[in-house]
Amino acid sequence: MQNLSVIAQVAVELPLDSPLDYYVPLSLLSRCAIGQRVIVPVGSRQVLGYLVGLVETSPVSELKELLDVLDDTPLLTPELLQLTRWVAEYYMCPWGQVLKAAVPEGFRVQSETVYALTPQAQEQPHTWPPGQAATLLQHLAQHGPQRQRDLARQVGMVQPHALIRRLATQGFLKRVQQRVPPRVRARQVAMVRLCIPPTEAQSLQQGQKRAPNQAAVLALLQQQPVWELAALEAQLPGARAAVQRLAQRQIVTVTQVEKMRTVAPLEVVDHTLPPVLNQAQQHALQHIESKLMAPDGVPILLHGVTGSGKTEVYMRAIATALSLGKSALVLVPEISLTAQAVERFAARFAAHVAVLHSGLSAGERFDEWRRLARGEARIAIGARSAVFAPLPELGLIVVDEEHDSSYKQEETPRYNARDVAIVRAQQGRAVVVLGSATPALETFYHASRGKYLHLALPFRVEDKPLPHITIVDQRVHATPNERVISTPLRHAIAACLQRHEQCLILINRRGFAAYLQCRDCGTVPQCANCSVSLTYHRRDRTLKCHYCDFSQPAPATCPVCHSLTLHAFGLGTQQVEDVLHALFPQARLGRMDRDTTRGKAAHQRILHALSEGEVDILVGTQMIAKGHDYPNITLVGVISADGALAIPDFRAPERLFQLLTQVAGRAGRGQARGEVLIQTYRPDHYSISFAHHHDFHGFFHSEMQRRQSLLYPPFTRLAKLLLESPNVVQVQAASQRFATILQRHMPDARQLTLLGPAEAPIVKLHNRYRWHILLKATSSRVLHRCLHASLSEAKHDKQYLQGVRLSVDMDPMLFM
Ligand code: ADP
Ligand code: ZN
Ligand code: ZN
Repeated sequence: MQNLSVIAQVAVELPLDSPLDYYVPLSLLSRCAIGQRVIVPVGSRQVLGYLVGLVETSPVSELKELLDVLDDTPLLTPELLQLTRWVAEYYMCPWGQVLKAAVPEGFRVQSETVYALTPQAQEQPHTWPPGQAATLLQHLAQHGPQRQRDLARQVGMVQPHALIRRLATQGFLKRVQQRVPPRVRARQVAMVRLCIPPTEAQSLQQGQKRAPNQAAVLALLQQQPVWELAALEAQLPGARAAVQRLAQRQIVTVTQVEKMRTVAPLEVVDHTLPPVLNQAQQHALQHIESKLMAPDGVPILLHGVTGSGKTEVYMRAIATALSLGKSALVLVPEISLTAQAVERFAARFAAHVAVLHSGLSAGERFDEWRRLARGEARIAIGARSAVFAPLPELGLIVVDEEHDSSYKQEETPRYNARDVAIVRAQQGRAVVVLGSATPALETFYHASRGKYLHLALPFRVEDKPLPHITIVDQRVHATPNERVISTPLRHAIAACLQRHEQCLILINRRGFAAYLQCRDCGTVPQCANCSVSLTYHRRDRTLKCHYCDFSQPAPATCPVCHSLTLHAFGLGTQQVEDVLHALFPQARLGRMDRDTTRGKAAHQRILHALSEGEVDILVGTQMIAKGHDYPNITLVGVISADGALAIPDFRAPERLFQLLTQVAGRAGRGQARGEVLIQTYRPDHYSISFAHHHDFHGFFHSEMQRRQSLLYPPFTRLAKLLLESPNVVQVQAASQRFATILQRHMPDARQLTLLGPAEAPIVKLHNRYRWHILLKATSSRVLHRCLHASLSEAKHDKQYLQGVRLSVDMDPMLFM
């Protein structure tokens, strides 16, 4: 029998290095296929897993058996298995955890612990202990296995724990794992169908004088032979009962039919003709179309200034993909942006559009996923995790605002959806278009070297001018009254309100980490080794670098101009809202930040109010800066632009340039020209001056020089190792131990360097102390090799990692 056995390789949703092997019992053999979900035993539990391989031999000798197969047809296509496997390998995380992130929660099956009688207890009730124990066992005998909580409630016990444990050790009960069906199921609706000829129905209807509701239902069924019961009831209150009577009389049948939940607004189809493309759009579209006909694996950068009509190019390219029988995927960086994107795409493509993001209900995600998998919807729009959308015949992937750091997931699996999209396109022979007004340095670098195809939309549509930007030097406007809103910005807001136009006020909250800044010359103290701003620790009055662990006492005077005006900074949206309210009591204010966008449709509500003109001034964090297209916004004000420069991150200048360019791009998209005021203490900083002149190329070249001199990406690849533990001594010791292990596996310093270990900027999170180590290497291959060798050595050294959690972050975007 040995050589006839089939072994299933199963990726489970647990932190394990590789899939687990299981025998496939004969009874399940015919139902097994790669890509299906299965139930397997792990320890004493039953867990959900994904069947990723079927083989004949296993290196493991004592294999357990597969318990169940959940799907009739595989949930995951070979293409998605290949993609998620790449993600697992590249980002160095368990495959099962990538699959968990890829598949909507509604498909998840869980298992729970229940208590059941042992066979002996069942057969010999006379041996049961008396009293409460007997009541409890009696209950189990009658009702079968129960959860502890339910058991306690039903037999009226407050603290059942000790008793249950005692009965278990005495052999009366046992703990077993039981499967919980998925929370989400296909939605069923009742359909009513006439099952007699219409002519017969007509005569019947006339004979129904004493049952007017039944007559009315028959009348409706003559107009249209099949109705959703709910729709009948909506037309005619009381229809439900009438249908029941008619069904008893075998005049109609009622059947349960699945009805998909849909998310995209299907009723807003726009029948006006799309605009005629301008020359640059036309040129870009032609290139994308020729790649669609003959994909060559080269990613495309669509580099178009704000308002240059990138979305229109995406939509035309999607139409072409559909006409070629292909499907398309559109990624947008945040949920707040999906609403507007979905509205625009649904207006053009109607029911072809499915939406996937974490803001949907579990049922909605479940259905949208299935609509895509079945090919009923051919365009998926969504945030990060939609990169795993099940699209058969995928032809085109659009990554809008590709530079955005929210494409990076900051928990396991720590993937960047933009990069996964590039790989997915290469694996599936699809075309990937990365769109942005401010491409990431990495992306533009590849485009400038010919690794990506660079397509430019250098002007706004209809020759609308880019907004006029004014820099307001906060050092000049230093009175307490002007600290939040300077006089020039106050005047600009007043004029904007007078013209009945709208205005956005951006607070750059990325600068929330405390830092010191000189009020006289604008200097923020920097680390001598790393060229990042030092973080100010109020409690012990020190400045620290969180890349290299450099630390110094906070100086009393400015290191550059020696003035005594070093101040600690930090400012919130609510405070700004209050100030604006005091200055413009008449104006209708809106606020958009993490606090006001908690609810499911909160973003939409706020943006809807903006588009309906119910808000005069919208105050917000960076989420207001992106992508939105509202023609009546003519003024954008930026408070504390330089806050972002103080965070300890080598990308801080890039993020600031992007943010300023993006938020400026919200102004003047309609007929009137836009105006932008940027308040800053550092008007001479290159991020601000290049944004001032709409000069992406100038910024790119300056920043590339800096990156090269410090050997940061795109000149190197980074990996961050984070070590966390409740024990501050252990985490430090483990970090140092691990750093020595890494050093043992490091090639020469030209290929790989190590920074740290150092305390992370957020040194304690959820009661865990955090340390990190940063690796810089010439390629990701060098990083992988060193990390694999070090991690496998560390595994044999069980001592040092005790109680310390270690996670790997490839291409990290956050250094907090
Ligand atoms: P981007 O995504 O580059 O910021 P959008 O695609 O949102 O720009 O375009 C801005 C506005 O211009 C939209 O309202 C869009 O409908 C309109 N638009 C796009 N292309 C054209 C065109 N060729 N002629 C006129 N209007 C256009
Ligand atoms: Zn100074
Ligand atoms: Zn440093």
